[in-house]
Amino acid sequence: MTDAEREQLKEEIKKLARERDAVILAHYYVDSDVQDIADFVGDSYALAKAAKSDPRKTVVFCGVTFMGESACILNPDKTVLVPAEDAVCPMALMADPETIKEMREKYDDLAVVCYINSTAEIKALSDVIVTSSNALKIVGKLPNKNIFFIPDGNLGRYVAEQIPEKNVVLNRGFCHVHTSMTAREIEACFHQHEGAKIIAHPECMKEVLDLADYIGSTKELIDFVRTDGSEEYIVCTESGVLHEMEKVAPGKRFYPVGAKQVCPNMKKITLGRVRDCLLNNAPRAVCDDSLREASCRPLDRMLEMAK
Ligand code: SF4
Repeated sequence: MTDAEREQLKEEIKKLARERDAVILAHYYVDSDVQDIADFVGDSYALAKAAKSDPRKTVVFCGVTFMGESACILNPDKTVLVPAEDAVCPMALMADPETIKEMREKYDDLAVVCYINSTAEIKALSDVIVTSSNALKIVGKLPNKNIFFIPDGNLGRYVAEQIPEKNVVLNRGFCHVHTSMTAREIEACFHQHEGAKIIAHPECMKEVLDLADYIGSTKELIDFVRTDGSEEYIVCTESGVLHEMEKVAPGKRFYPVGAKQVCPNMKKITLGRVRDCLLNNAPRAVCDDSLREASCRPLDRMLEMAK
């Protein structure tokens, strides 16, 4: 696509969004062109809040499918369009109802804490939803001693280390993008950029977090590079975030660890698919009424507890 065609497509999307009274929300991990046409770019938590608070009747959710599904659950009166129905986060499928049942039988005092990267079925079986921005705050506030943290074992382990007074039982889920980075690769990257600070998302493996100067959610990493005094950073998270970092901290230098830091599912959302979903008013996120009610409770509890 030429630059002129790309600009024309962006104008077409903005016009269609106005006609449909649609707000376009984009996650930091989607392609930079899609981020640039969004009304709001954010992490999972900020986007969930934006989908709820924006007055427009249609939400175009540029992210993987569980994000559109969560927006649909929280906003039964809105139409939620998902430009790429095939953009499924594999980690969202890494928790199962049988294990949740077993854990509830094993511990009297159990809270099932579910990362937002999960299906509506699993959310419905959970006590509260968290994102990487609010997991520490919410788990710290829960009265329960025993926590079953699903689906991400790496974020769960990080929470357990930060809140040692809780007994956090871990699940085996993981993000293949964040766990693709190894300590050896980061050390090699550091060797090339010795003045750089290493910053990492808690979905990374422990060997990576052990090397990090700063650990935080996507939004926290962005805020860190904006306010921190250093000039160079080795960024251990999905590489789409570099687009926002370059905007908020112009002149600073950001180095990805390697080519595997790209989420293939987030990249399925293209300008063409955003245009098509606005034209067709489809595909839409759907959630049946009984599931919506059950999965809305822990999502609402997150919004309440994270305030
Ligand atoms: S980066 Fe990882 S957790 Fe996020 S959508 Fe992609 S696969 Fe899922």
